[in-house]
Amino acid sequence: MTADVRWPDSLWAAVTPPGPDLPELRGSETTDVVVIGGGFSGLSTALHLREAGVEVAVVEAAEPGWGASGRNNGQVIPTLSRPDPDNIVAKHGAAGERLVGLIRDSASILFDVVKRHGIDAEQEQNGWVQPVHSPGRIKIAERRVRQWSKVGAPVELLSREQVRDMLGSDAWFGGFWNRTGGHINPLALARGLARTVVAQGGKIFARSPAVSIERRGDRWIVKTAQGEISGRALVVASNAYTGEFSKMLAPAIAREVMPVRSWQMATQPLSDNVRKSMIPGRQAMSDTHGELIFGRFDARNRFVTGGAIIRPFNQIATLKARVGKRLQALWPQIGEVRFDYVWNGFIGMTTDYLPHIHRLGPNAYGWTGCNGRGVALSIALGDQLSKAVQGAPDNELALPFTEPTPIPANELLRPFAPLMMVLYRHRDSKEIA
Ligand SMILES: Cc1cc2nc3c(=O)[nH]c(=O)nc-3n(C[C@H](O)[C@H](O)[C@H](O)COP(=O)(O)OP(=O)(O)OC[C@H]3O[C@@H](n4cnc5c(N)ncnc54)[C@H](O)[C@@H]3O)c2cc1C
Repeated sequence: MTADVRWPDSLWAAVTPPGPDLPELRGSETTDVVVIGGGFSGLSTALHLREAGVEVAVVEAAEPGWGASGRNNGQVIPTLSRPDPDNIVAKHGAAGERLVGLIRDSASILFDVVKRHGIDAEQEQNGWVQPVHSPGRIKIAERRVRQWSKVGAPVELLSREQVRDMLGSDAWFGGFWNRTGGHINPLALARGLARTVVAQGGKIFARSPAVSIERRGDRWIVKTAQGEISGRALVVASNAYTGEFSKMLAPAIAREVMPVRSWQMATQPLSDNVRKSMIPGRQAMSDTHGELIFGRFDARNRFVTGGAIIRPFNQIATLKARVGKRLQALWPQIGEVRFDYVWNGFIGMTTDYLPHIHRLGPNAYGWTGCNGRGVALSIALGDQLSKAVQGAPDNELALPFTEPTPIPANELLRPFAPLMMVLYRHRDSKEIA
C-alpha cells in the first residue's frame, strides 16, 4: 500500500524547496529507537538522538512535515493557549515546574536548533505579541506577565498605545509580548530537520504508514504494509494525526484529542508601504479571541492569517470574504485583499488545554494535545523525549507523565467540533468578569 501523499494547497508547499529523497520501509530493519511520525516532535527527537550518537529511524506515513508541522501558521510561541504557569504547576507539581521552564525556553530552543544546524527556515526571532480584544481582558495580559516574569520569561505588558504602535492598528486594548518568540516557514523547518537527521546518520522512511505496534521480547516492533522495524525504544509522535492512517496504531492517544480543523490563508504579497504600516517590527501576533485573530508576514511580505468556519459548504469563498473584511477593518490601508492560498490542518485539542505526555510501556513514550501552540513546544519536547529514551530519570525530565484519558464518544463528537465556535463567538462578544 502506498499512502496518499498529496500536499494541501498551502503557501508553504508552493514556496518551499523539496525535502530529501527518502526510501519507503520494506523488509526487516533494526535500530535503537523507532520514532513514528515525521513532524516537528518526531524529527526533533531523532535529531537530538543523533546529536547524542544514538541510532534512530523515523517511520512517516506520508512525507516529513505532511501533518500539522508543514501546515501551520509558523508562529513560534513560548506559552500554552490557555493554561498559565500556576495552572501547570497545580496540575503536575515538580514535573509541571520543569515543563513551565521548558515552555519558557521553547522558542529559543527552536531558534537555536535552526542556527546550530544551518537550517534555512525563513526564521525571524522578533517576538510574539498577544493583544487583548476588550478593555477587561487586559487582566489576562497582566496575569500572564506576572506569572511568566516570576519564572524568568522575558515578557512585558503593553499599553494600548504600545500595541497600536507595534501592530499598526487601534483595534486592541493593550496586551503583552515575549521577545524570544517569532515565526518560521514551518515546512522549510520540517524539511530542514529531515535533511539534517539524514545527514547526521539517522534514517527516515517516508510513505510508510505504521499499521501496528507490538512488544516482542524486549523489543518494540512497528509494522507497515511492506515491512517492519524493531527497536529497543519507541516514540509515538503522530500527535493529532494518530488514527489518520491506521485506527489500530495508538487508539488511546488518538481518542484523547479532538482534532479541530484550522484554516490558514495567505494574501498576495503586500506593497512595502502597506507592509511597514502593519506590524512594522514583523512580530507574530495572536489575540485573545476564542475565534482567534492571528497573523504574521512571510519572507515575501504575504500576510499569513486564517479564520474559522462553521458551515460545511462554500467554505473557501466564505472564508475569503469574511477574513478579507476583517483585515480591512483592522488595517484599512490594506485595500482590496486577494488570498492566493487557503488550506487547513488538524489541531489536537485536549479538554484541559494541556499537552498530554505518556509512558506507553518499557522505553516507550508519546504525547499529543498541542492545542494550537505546538511549534516551539514540539521541538522542545523532542529534546526531552530523546533524553527519556536514553534513560534519564523522571526527575530530570520536563515530562509530566499521565495515563491517556480518552474523550468519551470521541469519534461521534468529531463532526460537531466546529460548533464550539458558536460558544467562542458568544464569549468573545462579552466582557470578562
Ligand atoms: C493549521 C494549523 C495551524 C497551527 N498554527 C500554529 C502556530 O502558528 N503556532 C504553534 O505553536 N502551533 C501551531 N499549530 C500546532 C503545530 O503545528 C503542531 O502542534 C505541531 O506541528 C505538532 O507537531 P507534531 O510533530 O507533534 O505533529 P505532526 O506535525 O502532525 O506530525 C505527525 C506526523 O505523524 C504522521 N503519522 C500519522 N499517523 C502515522 C502512522 N500510522 N505511521 C507513520 N506516521 C504517521 C503524520 O503523517 C504526520 O506527519 C498549528 C496547527 C495547525 C494544524
